[in-house]
This record gives sequence, structure tokens and C-alpha cells, in this order.
Amino acid sequence: MRLYPEPSAKPLREEAARRYGVRPEQVLAGNGSDELLTMLMRAIVGPDDIVVYPEPTYSLYDTLVTIQEGRALTIPFPADFGLPPALFGAEGRLMMICNPNAPSGTLTPVATIAELAAGFDGVVVVDEAYVDFAPAGSSALSLLATHPNVVVLRTFSKSFSLAGMRIGLAFGAPDLLAELGKVKDSYNLSRVAIAAGTAALVDLAWMERNVARIVATRARLAARLAELGYEVLPSATNFVLARRPGEDQAAVQAALRTRGILVRHFATERLRDALRISVGSDEEIDRLLAELVALRPG
Ligand code: PMP
Repeated sequence: MRLYPEPSAKPLREEAARRYGVRPEQVLAGNGSDELLTMLMRAIVGPDDIVVYPEPTYSLYDTLVTIQEGRALTIPFPADFGLPPALFGAEGRLMMICNPNAPSGTLTPVATIAELAAGFDGVVVVDEAYVDFAPAGSSALSLLATHPNVVVLRTFSKSFSLAGMRIGLAFGAPDLLAELGKVKDSYNLSRVAIAAGTAALVDLAWMERNVARIVATRARLAARLAELGYEVLPSATNFVLARRPGEDQAAVQAALRTRGILVRHFATERLRDALRISVGSDEEIDRLLAELVALRPG
């Protein structure tokens, strides 16, 4: 530990290249994908530059655009959380597509992302933090060869259950990643993180078992929530967005909290009648469901 880590996390990038069928020059490692998002914004967005994305989505995008003094051009998702038509033909330096999206959990087909990227002048970032929970074939990694303006972000925080280790990967064109590297901290991943990330990729079967367990519990949670009167969007992630149309869920969130159960409520017009519920262990989900039944009016 007295020695600095390899500055570009080379062992991790090489293993990622093997696993995902790309070259090491097409991989950049970050201290979590949040750091990669920061690098993208710092390298690409200056004052008054436009960053386009559908909303609601991952809230960090707003923060990072503000720090750069850029301008966020946000386009509301329609009710079914399909991509808004106005996104096609939009102009800007950067387009952010969180896919599957948070907090809706919904998935946009990769063919639609391809169409979007083909028509966009700037860089399209596909934030795939949750893609391992989506059906096979959902990733935009397959577009890298044909769409040089696409950057795909992955994280080890969700499907690999390594949030505390802080590991993210960006996949993209080598010249674009080289530009991002200019705003990277010299030693952004520790030796421990590089070793852990490499080992996690060597044992992908562990991640796949982890995902299978979560996907099974997700199906059970969604079905039971529907029986309890919630509208549940189809989820391709490790959480579900459950809505009771017109009924603010703030009180339900607060009541669950006093019982030691943490779910997310967003106090916005669009989402106030919804809860975002992470898929925990089967025991945790059983407790949550029991408390929701106990809390039901009437
Ligand atoms: N993207 C999305 C959509 C997320 O929800 C998160 C986790 N909050 C991240 C990126 C960042 O993940 P990390 O920095 O842990 O890799």
C-alpha cells in the first residue's frame, strides 16, 4: 500500500476489455460512475453549452450542468416513460440517457438509442448503472463500433454489490476517452479498488446469480404491490416505482421510516404520488409488504 496504484487502472481496464469484447483503449475507469459523469461534464460542457436529457432522471445531471454553468435542456418523459419525441432532433454538446432510467426503472430499446445517437451532433452518454438487471441485449455497448459519439457508463455499485469500493467504467472511442483523461485525478482508483474490480469481472457468474435473485424478488414485489392497488411501472432495474395516482405518498414514506424501512419519495409534482422501492432481501421485502398492508386506509 506504500506504492501508488497504476494511474489508469490498467489491470481493471484489460479485464473489462476481455469481458465486454472491446479494446483496453476503449475503457476508462472512474471512482464510481459519478466521477466519470463529472469528467464528462468538465471535459465537454462550458458556460452556456446545452446538455439535453429527458426528465425525471438521475438528479446528479442537473447538479453537474449547474457547476459547469451549462444549460440543461430537459424534456419531460411521457406517462409511459418512453423517450420523448422532442429528444430526436434536439441540439446540444451532450445528451444524457439514463437507461434503464432512474427513478422510473423503465428501459428504452437499444435500437432507439442508436437512432438518437445517429441524429445527434454531440456526445451521447448512456448511463447503464442498472443495465445488468435488464433483459440480455439491452446494452448500448453494441453501438460503440458504429456510433463513435456514444459513451456507455457502467458501475460496480448495483449488480456487483460493490458500492463502497467506488468503481465505474466508461466505454467509448479512444480519442474521446483520452480527452476525458485530461480532467481525471492522477490516481483516481485505489489499489484495493483495482484489485476488487478486476476480481469481480473474473467471476461474472457471481454477479449473474446476484442479479437473478434480485430480479426474482422484484417480480414478486411488483405483483404484490399491484394487488395492493399500486400502479407499478415495468422495471428493468433493482427498484420499482409504485404509484397511487393522485395520492401523495409522503406520509407513507414517513410512516415506513419510523418502522425502520427506507423507501424514496420525491416531492415533485410528477412523482409525489409514487414511491421508489429498492429490491432488498426476501425478508426485507416481506416486512415492507406487511407494513404497507398495515398502513392501508380502511
Ligand atoms: N448513475 C445512476 C443512474 C445512478 O443511480 C447512480 C447511483 N446513485 C450512479 C450513476 C452512480 O453510481 P456510482 O458512482 O456508485 O458508480
